[in-house]
Amino acid sequence: MTTTVITNATIVTCDAARTVLYDSALAIDGSRIAAVGPTAQVRASYPDAEVVGGRGKAVFPGLINCHAHLTANLFRGISEDFGFPSSFSFPDDVRNMVSDEETVIMAILGAIECARTGCTTTVEISSGIDRYAGALAQTGLRWVLAENTSDGVVEPTFRAGEPVLQYSDALREKSLEQATRLFEKWDGQEEGRITCMGSTGLVETSSPALLRDVHTLAERYDSRYTIHLNQSQLEVESLMLMRGVRPTQSLFANDYLGPRLLAAHCRFLDPSEISLLGTTRSNIAHQPAMAARRAVIPPIPALRDAGCTIGMGTDNNTQDMVEVMRTGLFTERILRQDGTNPQPEDVLMMTTMGSAKAIGMADSIGSLEVGKKADLFVVNTRRSNLAPTMRIVSAFVHNGQPSDIESVMVDGGFVMRDGKVLKVDEEAVIAEADGIGRRVWHRLLKKYPNVPFPVTLAPE
Ligand SMILES: [Zn+2]
Repeated sequence: MTTTVITNATIVTCDAARTVLYDSALAIDGSRIAAVGPTAQVRASYPDAEVVGGRGKAVFPGLINCHAHLTANLFRGISEDFGFPSSFSFPDDVRNMVSDEETVIMAILGAIECARTGCTTTVEISSGIDRYAGALAQTGLRWVLAENTSDGVVEPTFRAGEPVLQYSDALREKSLEQATRLFEKWDGQEEGRITCMGSTGLVETSSPALLRDVHTLAERYDSRYTIHLNQSQLEVESLMLMRGVRPTQSLFANDYLGPRLLAAHCRFLDPSEISLLGTTRSNIAHQPAMAARRAVIPPIPALRDAGCTIGMGTDNNTQDMVEVMRTGLFTERILRQDGTNPQPEDVLMMTTMGSAKAIGMADSIGSLEVGKKADLFVVNTRRSNLAPTMRIVSAFVHNGQPSDIESVMVDGGFVMRDGKVLKVDEEAVIAEADGIGRRVWHRLLKKYPNVPFPVTLAPE
């Protein structure tokens, strides 16, 4: 077991009192935090430890992303600008037009971005995660893998939010089997660094029977389960048409709300739905940067007041959790029309302890406290955009850049150190991913020359 002590640093603990310690040290023994306190005292307790100098540095708990689709970085630079559901009408998704090897590259690209933006734990939601779960495990980061299930019978041109009128038992059984297989293979692997979560993709593509089965699956493995909920006005209208109730009301009727639920987005809610989510103590995954791109601000203050726990996430295109914190601060202030609420400390707490609670891991991650997992990132505060650093949390939330992050540790081991990502060949992955993106988009356009596409792409 190696012991490491980071000395003379500013330590942003994110404990219940939101304590920030100055000129202090943090000792890591194996995978856990062994001590936090005055440098001299901690060094004396661990005289043989490897010392990492922290002067001019700030140590934060690793950020926790409650909602990601890593390989949707294939849409980067394109889908951000065409609404939700997208105004494109291709009968194909570029994610289904790449090989398994190419999927692995795009997933690793997303993982590198997680590390570079201080994110140590990510909930990855997709179909066919087993294709790249091993590659994610090798990045050294902490993952919660959520295999999507769905049993709606839809056309290839189906867009999220459209009404679904038929469900298939065969599809339900097949996707449940795949989700169960992922749990069996990965839940608890890598000394607990990899866990799993249940997932139904969309309300409209999930029959009541599927909702029941995924809820049961999550109970069997004592995990959370997630779903995209009330993410568009179209989805609300479709549910009214399909089931005569709004999406959250439909989930309530099918016993899907509750403390195990991680409901993503929750953008278009009426007061009855906010009340249902709150009284059932459901958890919310809030993706402020993606919502802002969609020109929406979800009713986060009302959900919080109703009793929900709020965690933060990215969604598609990018995994930049630094941007997520800042956008979360901006959009909630705009919603409240109040330039003082929330404070940067509130947003940091949402992205650390809030997310940890929302995914059921508050006992082990989310703050820098003795006994917790050593998941953290180190910021170089000697930067033109951060100094003076009298209030480092505010400075970082308002002005921080991913490039201020020097080192990232997960489970007591560095996954990035002094600006270098350690477990993967970053340069090679970026070059390959760029080629994959160019090839697949040009292939899509060649395959469907008559589908309107108001974008000029770089040459292949
Ligand atoms: Zn999503």
